[in-house]
Amino acid sequence: MPDKELLLAASDLIRRTGCIELEIGHSDDEGREWYAVAKYQGTRVIHESTGPDLAALGLAMQLLEGGRCKCGRRATLVGASDTKHCLWSRTGERFNSGCDAPPMTIDKPGDIAAADREWRKRAGNS
Ligand SMILES: [Zn+2]
Repeated sequence: MPDKELLLAASDLIRRTGCIELEIGHSDDEGREWYAVAKYQGTRVIHESTGPDLAALGLAMQLLEGGRCKCGRRATLVGASDTKHCLWSRTGERFNSGCDAPPMTIDKPGDIAAADREWRKRAGNS
């Protein structure tokens, strides 16, 4: 059975990275092969897995990894928080950052370059 909360949390995270047109479906008649596909900055990104929840989670991880968290460290869903990484975790239907840095306001969600500029501005002011 797919984990509905995980599916919703992963879909929400995919949306928050700035993706549009998220589609989740199965590619075989038995429903054993699932895919999650979305458009990220004009490029189609896809992840395949054995369930809709895992396909969405895989795509979310693919998009989040390497992105900068509002605290300035690289966001990750695996491992531990350290000086370079901020470990995000899931509570119910939502993934949250592992830090309490104030929210970052950028014009275009998912614009990593804009997030980098904002973070540098912040770092310079503290
Ligand atoms: Zn963080």
